[in-house]
Amino acid sequence: MSGRKQFSYEPERLADDLYVIPLPLQDGSPVNSYVSIGRDGLFLVDGGLGSEQAQATLRAGIRTIGYDFDRDVRGLLVTHGHNDHVGAAQAVLDRGGQVLAHHLETTAGGNQAFDDAFLHRHGLPPDGGPRGFTWRSFAWPKPTRALEDGERLCWGNLDLHVVWCPGHTPGLICLHEPSRGLLFTTDHVMRRAPTPVSVRNAEHDNPLGEYLASVDKLRSKTVQTVLPGHGRPFHHLRQRLDQIQAEIQHQLDLIQAHLRGGPATAYELLTLSALRDRRPIATRYQLSLVLARLRFLESLGRLRALESAHTIRYALAE
Ligand SMILES: [Zn+2]
Repeated sequence: MSGRKQFSYEPERLADDLYVIPLPLQDGSPVNSYVSIGRDGLFLVDGGLGSEQAQATLRAGIRTIGYDFDRDVRGLLVTHGHNDHVGAAQAVLDRGGQVLAHHLETTAGGNQAFDDAFLHRHGLPPDGGPRGFTWRSFAWPKPTRALEDGERLCWGNLDLHVVWCPGHTPGLICLHEPSRGLLFTTDHVMRRAPTPVSVRNAEHDNPLGEYLASVDKLRSKTVQTVLPGHGRPFHHLRQRLDQIQAEIQHQLDLIQAHLRGGPATAYELLTLSALRDRRPIATRYQLSLVLARLRFLESLGRLRALESAHTIRYALAE
């Protein structure tokens, strides 16, 4: 017994003209590729990791539903530029297909590196602490067209409305299909998993503030079925949005309660277990998640940063 969970990568039919194919990540857990079947071919929403295993699984899944990747795939819509969503892009481009993404992702999507000097000022130990998986920079092929917020597009048989939802990445988009009540939420809203929202360098100013505004932005949509980037489809969007906001508020409350005992670095706050991502991820990534929370509280005027030559601590604002 390995203790490792077994996952299915079989395509699942969501409608006659819409399938989801779960594709393996490095640890075997799935990321979803959605396949919309139109009169002129197949149109994908997200294309898995670029690994041989993931791309072979995508091709096998497309064969299972009666099509051929090389012959039939006409386009890939990339919801955001993390490497577990972009994998099929080069193959689609090589076959003359279109690749679409929000204009901010086409430049910033592949730029996911950590600025270690910045993280050391926030208390990261010189050796960087335990390692684990991190998103690495990777080649992001140039999309054929950039998408804008509010844009409407025909994608296979889907009539999609682009909903720009920055936070998880600067140019993440959700896709609303109002006539069917579908919402593709990618990594912005998942059924159970919290969405990672991180600060990796000194530049990105307030990703958690952006994320919470993007969560609110979905409240006005009429949605029966949510189609996330990882995990199973689900219903009850509004309840899930409430839950996400409550979980984040809880973390913000814990940080402020801790700082009542005196200033702390972001790294010291990692002792609060409710702030930690439960996956086996690198310490620098855990730290980048805490920093997003601190920066949000700072933007609300609740905290202030105390900067010395080598270290930044946070204190409650008076
Ligand atoms: Zn992502």
